[in-house]
Amino acid sequence: SEEKSLNFIEEIIEEDLRKGNYKEIVTRFPPEPNGYLHLGHASSICLNFGLTKKYPGYTNLRFDDTNPTTEETEYVDSIKEDVKWLGFEWKNERYASDYFDTMYDYAVSLIKKGLAYVDDSTSEEIAAMKGTPTEHGKESSYRNRSIEENLDLFDQMKQGAFPDGSRTLRAKIDMAHVNMLMRDPVLYRIKHAHHHRTGDKWCIYPMYDMAHGQSDSIEQVTHSICTLEFVPHRELYDWLIEKLEIYPSHQYEFARRNINYTVTSKRKLLQLVNERYVTSWDDPRMPTISGLRRRGYTPESIRDFCDRIGVAKRENMVDVGLLEFCVREHLNKIALRRMVVFDPVKIIITDYPEGQLEMVPSEDNPEDENKTYRDIPFSREIYIEREDFMEDPPKKFFRLAPGQMVRLKSAYVIKCDEVIKDDLGNIIALHCTHIPNSKTGEANANIKVKGTLHWVSILHAVPVEIRLYDRLFKVEDPSSEEGDFKEYINPDSLQIIKTAYAEPALKTSKFNDRYQFLRKGYFMLDKDTSEEGLIFNRTVTLKDTWAK
Ligand code: ATP
Ligand code: MG
Ligand code: MG
Repeated sequence: SEEKSLNFIEEIIEEDLRKGNYKEIVTRFPPEPNGYLHLGHASSICLNFGLTKKYPGYTNLRFDDTNPTTEETEYVDSIKEDVKWLGFEWKNERYASDYFDTMYDYAVSLIKKGLAYVDDSTSEEIAAMKGTPTEHGKESSYRNRSIEENLDLFDQMKQGAFPDGSRTLRAKIDMAHVNMLMRDPVLYRIKHAHHHRTGDKWCIYPMYDMAHGQSDSIEQVTHSICTLEFVPHRELYDWLIEKLEIYPSHQYEFARRNINYTVTSKRKLLQLVNERYVTSWDDPRMPTISGLRRRGYTPESIRDFCDRIGVAKRENMVDVGLLEFCVREHLNKIALRRMVVFDPVKIIITDYPEGQLEMVPSEDNPEDENKTYRDIPFSREIYIEREDFMEDPPKKFFRLAPGQMVRLKSAYVIKCDEVIKDDLGNIIALHCTHIPNSKTGEANANIKVKGTLHWVSILHAVPVEIRLYDRLFKVEDPSSEEGDFKEYINPDSLQIIKTAYAEPALKTSKFNDRYQFLRKGYFMLDKDTSEEGLIFNRTVTLKDTWAK
């Protein structure tokens, strides 16, 4: 196998291990439980868990649940399900909220060191005092409160003595710092809100910077990997760890992954759900892990995709075509081949006896070394695809036409003799004759035909519903277009075929069985399937029209 070069984070880790800085490494995947995971998260999951599969150590799943108002248990459950489904196991399931007591103690210790103070300014006032990158900020008039006063006020904040937004705890760093985030950042805010885990115990909550690095440190995370927008936060991350004299976790940044023709932002995905542009978080058009799963993507194909896009230091747009390539590659290996006619035209094989039934064997998957077959019923009346017939075909029409011959996959060669029409000129049936002994392995098997078509026996066909998906957006980068990103939704992203005709083997389809409907694409059963009928989602089209 081909030697893959190390990504820059692997290089850092190998160097750390070589120097003996660590015996094992600890990473974490830190989702905020305010939405379902999407493809961008998948790349972070594959990176964090992939590192500790490759090197000694482990990965924690840590819910970054410091914002009580946006978080829900539904999201926690879906995140766990998605990480597991992707094929990863965390060592510990943790919540930033587990550390609220410790974080509070950390804050108190900063106050005692004279490194934090309670500010009575409003958030607007604080923002106005921040300054600009070229102008120093202004020190708050509360900055020089005594340690005793700060301890007392912070305690009162905790006790619920003050309303939301009336006070904050700020780090006392430098209002002239070149890094704006170091200009006395807010560490705690007052928020009288119910938390999904701590209930009403707290009415003050730590800000991201006061929670993330501290949680990393408590868990002794060695390599804390986040996306590039956190580069300016690293200085504060290090400052807090140094001043608190706690375990020195280190932050490393990689480029956020953006995929074209979709959006990967929980906030935007939530809008699509709430405003009913899609049916749910797991709508098969969504770039969420649950949407992709429902659509028929395999964990292997998503991991392969993340592996191929790798880890970058600069943001760029990844082509969704690569994801489709990965899933096609995998499904080609595992999908059972089946025949389904979407838009039927009836064929009567006039020289085939009425009432006669033949079972023709057909290979489940030519890519599979252990050849297996199912038997397909063949009879006098069959459906083929309407578009596979043309009355007056151009030269290169490799399908059925008057006087032309085609092979019916795994069955006979037939010839079209007559086109039957209604009064309005619509084709209602085709009269054909079959070439005897033209099935595979028989004397007339090698007869020259225009092409091979999929078909189903009408008497035995199972009606099924088919859902065809296209890209959710018409443009590559809806977020960078003028106006609202939702103006760029593709109105044809879902096409439903209420009744298609499937070969009977599909009657026993199970969830997670993967199918290739010959010449149509890859499909999987949808969860809307009920007693009333089978519903299949198209995962992805075939790259090329199936030829033989
Ligand atoms: P969103 O913008 O969709 O809300 P987020 O970064 O706020 O995403 P979190 O739940 O905080 O979502 O993310 C959990 C982890 O996944 C973080 O470490 C984050 O950096 C990473 N992550 C999120 N989106 C992407 C992405 N598009 N590419 C790579 N990593 C991502
Ligand atoms: Mg976030
Ligand atoms: Mg975000």
